[in-house]
Amino acid sequence: MPKGPEIKRAADAIALVLEGRMIESADLHHDELKGSHRHIVGQRVKSIETQGKALLTHFSSGKTLYSHNQLYGVWHVVDRGQYPTTKRTLRVALHTARHSALLYSASDIWVLTKKQLTTHPFLSRIGPDILDKSLTWRALLSRLTDPRFKSRKLATLYLDQQFLAGIGNYLRSEIIHDAGLDPALRPIDLNRGQLGRLARSTLTISKRSYTSGGITNKAGIAKKLKTQGKSRAAYRFSIFDREGECCYRCGGSVIRSTLNSRRLYSCAQCQTSSFETQSS
Ligand SMILES: [Zn+2]
Repeated sequence: MPKGPEIKRAADAIALVLEGRMIESADLHHDELKGSHRHIVGQRVKSIETQGKALLTHFSSGKTLYSHNQLYGVWHVVDRGQYPTTKRTLRVALHTARHSALLYSASDIWVLTKKQLTTHPFLSRIGPDILDKSLTWRALLSRLTDPRFKSRKLATLYLDQQFLAGIGNYLRSEIIHDAGLDPALRPIDLNRGQLGRLARSTLTISKRSYTSGGITNKAGIAKKLKTQGKSRAAYRFSIFDREGECCYRCGGSVIRSTLNSRRLYSCAQCQTSSFETQSS
């Protein structure tokens, strides 16, 4: 399933061809979109926005096209009418004078009013987007100490879209490893310094994934491994999907476990429990 950084990169590509442009025609092949042409065709695209894994296309009509890709949805941006060869089902096609933005296979698609956006079952529940430019590490720190979240294990919290939108499985392992914390710890177990480091790691790793196209390993390490002829799969992550291999930070062995039915990777040597840290 695509994570926030992947969705945001897709949104950037769509924004490049749609923002500020008039939609000249549209194909809407989805029951929930019946009767929605008038809100879209002949309207200008004001902006494209992501909220977690949801993509919002705001039109000058005041309406917004909401789409959530879930497992199989995918957007393609092409020169107008140049449809890609695919067996996927076309759900939405938005055509400007020069380009087409095409959404395939998604089934969670709606045209919503401003009011409906605020009460939407997904949007109204999710936390701030990890890639929201206005999200600071201090705001994240106060979220970590919020009564709703402070007593939950990091391993559980870092998959919860209500805590932070756009977070996902590989980011969970990568962020908690970068912060040097045992995934079984809860925010309430951490001292102020550890909380601050975790908040900063959360922003740093998410932004790194977005700007690098999914590479969360440190740029220097990834570059070195690449020049050694290693594959993208081998240099992409600092810890995720590296069971039994050496931790790049301390040389310890990477352990795989399963928490919340999802793979979690950590290093017992450099991801310490705060109890040890506090007693030392
Ligand atoms: Zn380590």
